[in-house]
Amino acid sequence: MNITREDLEAYLDEALAAEEMSRIEDALRGDPQLLRELTQVQTQRDADQHSLGSIWRRERLTCPSRDRFGAYLLGTLAPEHADYIRFHLETVGCRYCQANLADLQQQQSQQSGEGQVRRKRYFQSSAGYLKRE
Ligand SMILES: [Zn+2]
Repeated sequence: MNITREDLEAYLDEALAAEEMSRIEDALRGDPQLLRELTQVQTQRDADQHSLGSIWRRERLTCPSRDRFGAYLLGTLAPEHADYIRFHLETVGCRYCQANLADLQQQQSQQSGEGQVRRKRYFQSSAGYLKRE
């Protein structure tokens, strides 16, 4: 396992090939020390970029798009993308995306005529989570 700070930077920018992204995700899952490093890199970047605008852009760069969350909820995402979204929500714990997903989930639930807001936790198994029948 040989992951440099540059790798982590590129990872945060999603500037790596898909297999590199998943290699680093796997490493982060199994390595609390590396996860701390990632947090440090992120904190450093926060300190480097004070303006709201740049923070917003950076957040948007690392966050999956709303379309992608929609596909995630419908279960039509490729597994590696769904993995990234779960990682982003659970491990990174991104509040923007958690809110975004909750909002989309509510919309889809209303559109499907179920009439009830689902209150299932996001992080249950995706199979149970995505079941709409
Ligand atoms: Zn996010």
